[in-house]
Amino acid sequence: MTSTFTDHSKTLFLSPQDVAGIVSRQGIAATLHGMANYIHEDFLRWQAFDKSSRLAAHSADGVIELMPIADADTYTFKYVNGHPKNTSRGLSTVMAFGVLADVATGLPLMISELTLTTAMRTAATSAVAARALARPDSRVMALIGNGAQSEFQALAFHHLVGIDEIRLYDIDSRATAKLMRNLQNNSDCATLRLVVCSSIADAVRGSDIVTTVTADKTNATIITADMLTPGMHINGVGGDCPGKTEIHPDVLRAAKVFVEYEPQTRIEGDLQHLPADFGVTELWQVLSGQQSGRDNERQITMFDSVGFAIEDFSALRYVNDLGQSLRLGSGVSLIPQLTDPKDLYQMIKPARVLALAA
Ligand code: NAD
Repeated sequence: MTSTFTDHSKTLFLSPQDVAGIVSRQGIAATLHGMANYIHEDFLRWQAFDKSSRLAAHSADGVIELMPIADADTYTFKYVNGHPKNTSRGLSTVMAFGVLADVATGLPLMISELTLTTAMRTAATSAVAARALARPDSRVMALIGNGAQSEFQALAFHHLVGIDEIRLYDIDSRATAKLMRNLQNNSDCATLRLVVCSSIADAVRGSDIVTTVTADKTNATIITADMLTPGMHINGVGGDCPGKTEIHPDVLRAAKVFVEYEPQTRIEGDLQHLPADFGVTELWQVLSGQQSGRDNERQITMFDSVGFAIEDFSALRYVNDLGQSLRLGSGVSLIPQLTDPKDLYQMIKPARVLALAA
């Protein structure tokens, strides 16, 4: 249950350092487990949510999106961008923050960073999907795209799915070297083997699961049908915008395809290249037992992930609960405190303005 910040004159603010504090107090494995549990729990309450596709503002080099969602008690939204050229300007490709509010009053209870949190919630969602869809004996994963999201994907698949070897490839060898520096000789994943590969095909060969998490504002073909082997699970994370995809349509045709929220994925996912009547299954239906996941050991499954608001609802709930129980964060004044709520003008009465300035 989402708890509320006790000082109602203030909104709880969680900075990137506060969220990093949650991870350092608990450990990354426990944090990913915790977030995955919240996400799984909320996917099982699918019907309780007022859902819509996110609102996107496209521009030449990127997109800025708003992702609102609510149940009967709690409303959340995330502001997030996607600008693949940003890293050459010293900025992250994906940057985000979000708000958690009380439905009964509209009071914003918490505002949080969501850049680090998005990487963890995306990895946790990928793991929730893979636990339901990949072959249970999966041990080797290819990880194509070794940028900001990649370590979190690696750790989530190691700790939550049982992957013990990860085969890495990125067109930028510095990105792969950065991942190696971060995860090699790291007590968070001491038994995880990391293998640097010379091409996408080399990384995919022999893998049970393939995660694509590249960033390029184009219809790329990272994975083609000739790379597939029976029983493979594809976790397609980087194709998440009109005109920005990673997987050749023949891969989707060869696979049983699972999505988060079908109306949004038809616009944003690798699914955008398939006709409107191409059949897909929403992940919540598999988690709740209403639809089957993988039908047999040789079937190819694909999670066409774009990121849906419910995952951020869960992530905001999670950091709110942890921020409060670990006493992290600070209070910020976002909303005027009024002795008479009908008298907003009192805020700008000359005497009060002078007093505030003094
Ligand atoms: P990033 O820019 O930090 O890293 C992307 C990496 O992809 C870079 O290292 C780049 O060199 C590599 N790359 C680009 N083209 C490649 C290719 N053809 N082959 C191999 N590597 C290639 O970005 P990030 O924050 O790690 O995000 C990665 C992608 O994931 C973005 O497209 C982002 O929009 C998407 N994303 C999706 C979700 C979701 O919920 N599905 C959530 C977060 C991010």
